[in-house]
Amino acid sequence: AKTSGRGSYAFYDPERDYESGRVKRLDADLKLALKKKQFELHYQPIVDIRANRVNGFEALIRWRHPERGMISPGDFIPFAEASGWIVEIGNWALTRACKDAAAWPAEIKVAVNLSSVQFEKGDLYGAVTGALSASGLPAGRLELEITESVLLRDHPKTHDLLHRLRALGIKILLDDFGTAYGALSYLRSFPFDKLKIDRSFVRDFGTPNERDCAAIVQSIAELAKRLHMTTVAEGVETADQLAMVANAGCEEVQGFYFSKPVPVGEIAATVSRVRQI
Ligand code: C2E
Ligand code: CA
Ligand code: CA
Ligand code: CA
Repeated sequence: AKTSGRGSYAFYDPERDYESGRVKRLDADLKLALKKKQFELHYQPIVDIRANRVNGFEALIRWRHPERGMISPGDFIPFAEASGWIVEIGNWALTRACKDAAAWPAEIKVAVNLSSVQFEKGDLYGAVTGALSASGLPAGRLELEITESVLLRDHPKTHDLLHRLRALGIKILLDDFGTAYGALSYLRSFPFDKLKIDRSFVRDFGTPNERDCAAIVQSIAELAKRLHMTTVAEGVETADQLAMVANAGCEEVQGFYFSKPVPVGEIAATVSRVRQI
């Protein structure tokens, strides 16, 4: 079972849940959540550590449930993927994020997470171009984050779609880099613009494994540079971790050290707060 977070839908277990009838309720709840507009995007700054400037924000979805309060994505995204609702939820997130970002200063980008299910079902290309035209956001300000699960099936259609999105000027990021067995082969199969180093390598820094973490982060940053990609270090919480990823050569940093994800109303304040850190 999945044991993520404090939301009431933690311990999601498809097999057990399908039998218990819990799935039906979740299914109806997600449908209602879409209809009643209970989803929200919070935004976490991605900081250029050389210039000490916010380059962009990653959109992170939350479900403001009328009775259960704020539910984190780890507690409903797996179910939304299994049920197929992720296509509609994902399209909503794309459009919302593009509309929000269109109001930000022109140098600030927005990164949106995509599920592998969005590549299998629905019309992702149409959803992305639709979100861009509905918002007026230039394609160059949109980044799409995918994980290796998207490339796992090595489907020619997936590669074609990624190339078409990239041809629009959208940047494609490989998220959670370093966690997948075979991650290096994905770098050969698609020209990513950025690598996001998984939080686990940063998190363990300062523990007995610390030398390994620094070595791995440095190797990834060097590899990325040689392949003309930028590296983002995720999950930086402390000054020590920031120094480690900076020494390793990461260009961008995301993490609680700079800011937690914030509601859209706090974007401007977050940009100036980060500048002062
Ligand atoms: P992710 O894409 O790897 O996003 C980063 C997660 O790390 C976020 O959790 C963020 O709040 C958290 N984080 C950032 N900095 C720190 C830090 O310094 N320390 C710690 N402990 N955590 C940090 P969140 O918002 O709970 O999202 C979890 C996952 O849910 C995301 O992981 C992503 O895979 C998924 N997700 C979020 N929004 C969406 C969405 O709109 N669509 C899809 N398909 N997935 C989403
Ligand atoms: Ca992400
Ligand atoms: Ca990540
Ligand atoms: Ca993740």
